[in-house]
Order: sequence, then C-alpha cells, then structure tokens
Amino acid sequence: MSTQESPTDFVRSIIKEDLASGKHASIVTRFPPEPNGYLHVGHAKAICLDFGVAEEFGGTCHLRFDDTNPSKEEQHYADAIQADIRWLGFDWGEHLYHASDYFGQLYDWACHLIKEGNAYVDEQTAEEIRANRGDLNHPGTDSPYRDRPAEESMDLFQRMRNGEFEDGSKVLRAKIDMAHPNINLRDAVLYRVQKKSHPRTGDAWCIYPMYDFAHGQSDAIEKITHSLCTLEFENHRPLYEWFLDHLPIPARPRQYEFSRLNLSYTITSKRKLKTLVDGGHVASWDDPRMPTISGMRRRGITATSIRELCKQVGITRTEGTVDFSLLQSILRDELNDVAPRRMAVLDPIKVVVENYPAGQVEMVQAKNHPDNEAMGTREVPFGRELWIEREDFREEAPRKYFRLKPGEEVRFKYAYYLTCTGFDKDEAGNVTEIRCTYDPESRGGNTEDGRKVKGTIHWVHADTAVKAEVRLYDHLFQEEKPEASGEFLDNLNPDSLTKVTAVLEPGLANLPLGESVQFERSGYFCKDTDSSDEKLVFNRSVALRDSWAKLEKKLQAQSR
Ligand code: ATP
Ligand code: MG
Repeated sequence: MSTQESPTDFVRSIIKEDLASGKHASIVTRFPPEPNGYLHVGHAKAICLDFGVAEEFGGTCHLRFDDTNPSKEEQHYADAIQADIRWLGFDWGEHLYHASDYFGQLYDWACHLIKEGNAYVDEQTAEEIRANRGDLNHPGTDSPYRDRPAEESMDLFQRMRNGEFEDGSKVLRAKIDMAHPNINLRDAVLYRVQKKSHPRTGDAWCIYPMYDFAHGQSDAIEKITHSLCTLEFENHRPLYEWFLDHLPIPARPRQYEFSRLNLSYTITSKRKLKTLVDGGHVASWDDPRMPTISGMRRRGITATSIRELCKQVGITRTEGTVDFSLLQSILRDELNDVAPRRMAVLDPIKVVVENYPAGQVEMVQAKNHPDNEAMGTREVPFGRELWIEREDFREEAPRKYFRLKPGEEVRFKYAYYLTCTGFDKDEAGNVTEIRCTYDPESRGGNTEDGRKVKGTIHWVHADTAVKAEVRLYDHLFQEEKPEASGEFLDNLNPDSLTKVTAVLEPGLANLPLGESVQFERSGYFCKDTDSSDEKLVFNRSVALRDSWAKLEKKLQAQSR
C-alpha cells in the first residue's frame, strides 16, 4: 500500500455514512489513556485511528486521561504520554481533558441513579461480591443490601464521600440484573472508597468511579460521536449503553471496537511492560528493546515508520499478530532514502598500509548517499593505519569471497585499491594485524587501466577515529508469542542486547540526537541518549539485509 492512498475500513465507512446521512455534522473522537505507564506500539494503532479519522474527516480528537484510579496513576506518566503522542505527529489542540474533571458530574449522576432506584450501596466484602457474581454457567445471587430504600443508599453514599467508611467497606452498585448473561451487567460496581490523594484532585475525593461508570459518561459530556476502543471492551458496550439510557446525558456517543495490535516477539500490555521495568529486566521504560513509543524513538525507529505500520495493518475486528519484521522493513525502506551514509567499524582489526608514508593524512571524498547526489559529499581522513571489519578478512577464503585475502586486491571505498601482502597472528592463532600496499594511481577507488576489482570494503582511519559503544539489539523475547508457552518472563531473550566497542569516522561524534545514519554495510544507527561528552553511545535501529550471510549459506549448501 502506498502512503498516498487514504485508508478504508469499517470505522471509516461508518463515519462516512453518519456524515452523509446528517446524523453528525462533524465527528469527535478521543484517545483515552490511563496514566499508569508508558504508551506502546499498540496504543500507536489507537492513536493513529482516533486522531487519523478526526484529521481525515475534518473533526476533532480529544486527549482524555482516564485517571480514575489514583493508586496506579502518576503525573510523570501523563507527561510522557503527551510527549509520545506529539512525537507521533498528532495534536489535540485545546482538547485536553481528564475523567477527573467530571468527578462532580459523575457523583451527581450516581445520586440520580440512586434516587431512581437504579443503584444501591452494597456492604458485602469484595470476596462476597466476587463469589455472589456467579459465572458464565451460574447466575449471580442478589446482595442482601440490594433492596434497601433509596434514602438509605443516598445517606450511605454521601457518608462514603465524606470519608466515614474505610477502603473496601462499601461500594455503590448499579441495580441491573444479577442473572444477566453478560456478567458485566450483574450489578456493576460504580464507586469504591479509596482514601488516596489524586494527582489532580488532591484530597477532594475519597471515593472514585470505576472505568465503566466514567468512560461513556465522559464521552457524552465531551459529545464524542465515535468512541473507538479495542475488542476487549465489546462486552462492556451493553453496560456503556445502560448508563446512557438511565442518565440525563447531554449527547449520545456510540462505541465501536477494533482488534488490538500485537507485535511478534514482544508484548503489548502496560502492566507487563511495567513488570519488566520494575524487575530490572530492561533498563527503563524507554529501553530501546521496549515496544514503547519512547523505547522505539530512542532506538531510532521513526514516527513515520510507526504510522506506516499502523496504516498497513489497518483496522479490522480480526485478532492477529503482526510480524516485527514488517516494522523493520518499513523502517529500512524509509531510512534507505533519507539516512546519510557513514563509515564505522563494529569489530575492528588493524590494517597497516606499508607503502603509505607514516604521519601523512589525506582527505578523501565520500558520498553521503549512493543514489541521491543532492545529499552531497563529505571528507574523511585516510592514512597509513586503518580499521576494517574482522569479517572482511579471511586467511583462507572461498573463491567468491570478494573481500580482503592474501594476495588479492580490494577497493577501500572512496580511497584506494589495496592489496593484502601479509598478516600477523597471536599465539592463539588469531589474526592481529593485516599488512597491505596501496596503489597511489587508484585514488577515489578507480584506475585509468580499468582493471576489475570486485570487492569493496569500508574502513576508518585509525588515528582520527572516534570510539563508541554500539548497542546491537535482538528481539526482547525468544518466541514469536512470548506468552504462548507460559510465563512471559521465562521467555526473555538473554541476547537481546550486545554491546561492542566500535570505531567511527570522526564526524559522527557530532551527530545530533534523533538523527539517523546508515553505517555502511551494517545498518541504520542513531546516537543514544546515554551519550555524554566523555562517552559516545550508538543504537542500531535496524540491520541491513545481510546479503553476504545469504550468499555464504548458499555456498555452504552447494559444497555439501
Ligand atoms: P494495556 O492493556 O496495555 O494496559 P490499556 O488498554 O489498559 O493498555 P489504556 O491506557 O486504557 O491502556 O488504553 C488507551 C487506549 O488504547 C484504549 O482505547 C485501548 O483500547 C487502546 N489500546 C490499548 N492497547 C492497544 C493495542 N494493543 N492495540 C490497539 N489499541 C490499544
Ligand atoms: Mg486495558
């Protein structure tokens, strides 16, 4: 799918119809995160839908914090959520709201239900409530408090609000039907006592509404037209509508559900991601291995690639898992066009150019992009001592190994042709240094005689190179579905992070944070936020497709 086409899906069809029929003059959507963790790639799908349709159809999208549970929610999460949505490229303008803004209205509506005989204060313990709820095969049992007079419930509810009762001692429940086939309607709990300060309302309240009692009414207050959420809320919809039916609400929103985004080799649950952070399994919420928006940003995964992923995945009601490699290939395609090329050696071995004068350094011109001249050129230093990748040298090499091997000539990209004349080994038999001679006539990697040199390798000048810690990432989990065969913590990939000390062309020391470059032949990289004046740290955002690894496999298969 190209980026130009605008998406079509069942949600957009519904919106189109509602606009065409005049049911709505314009649409209003909302993205309703609970500020109890950082946003992850799954949320990106919801964000792209909520803000995306508002943009496409000339409507508005609200950012509404669903902040009804002060025991789990914190302001710094709310701040990070806003930063992440903005970074993804969306803007709620003046439409920032909080469910806590409506605590007064929700309280009044709870009183309304009590007065109408549609809610009661229950004094059963939490265990009793759970036990009496029944299950899919058994109806629930009415609470002994269910039929208490409305005045009595009213009095108790007011006293709950005044702080006269301890946490867990009393709840307000809707009076619906304890035998309802949908368990959510078996006298849903509306309010609980929680003597806890709230980040926004402080100590004004010691009773807090449940998600189900807050969400639809908040939608109604904000005149949301299309309330879009994931499929796990489908069987909450009858309750959502029950409240709208029984309250004097100012507008009638409708809820539509779509399937969650799941990504292979990772998890998309804030609660579980928090377990990873709290347990020290990752360094932080923005650890580049995390599927959080902030982790992906730090890793160098661009906002446009995340949006393109969401677009390609589309909006349906079918559950499925999207392959992580789809995101990687979208990112590669994008960065291939825009990321400047640089030279860096991740696993360095020294090359000494024996016929090049000691102490001499010259600048050679390197292209910033092989196909885009507009991206220009830069100068990189070349001299007698260079670093190349250890894997670019073989003492004994197959015929089709077009890199450095004794007696063979290869092109040192942008510089000269070099011929390997020898090498040194340590006692353990490891190659420690490679000796070469260069052809001064081949400057720029060409000769007049037009002789064929098949191999081209990258290199970094030793004296001027800058050292960096380079972090290479693999999947956070070993299996595509980390939870399929048990506890997700047992499935963590012990090799998800490898740190190497690399040498880089000197200009890379000044790469700004947030910019991507291609290290020629090894992948796309960005500077990590751990970088300081003392230490450079780079992340590999995604590797290049390694064509040599593929060729070697093929050659091995042929020789068997
Ligand atoms: P989690 O289940 O990860 O804890 P959540 O659903 O509890 O997340 P919320 O902050 O309540 O987190 O989610 C805000 C919105 O994001 C909701 O509308 C929810 O439907 C949507 N959302 C959450 N996870 C996904 C996902 N994996 N794919 C698509 N949308 C999601
Ligand atoms: Mg949820």
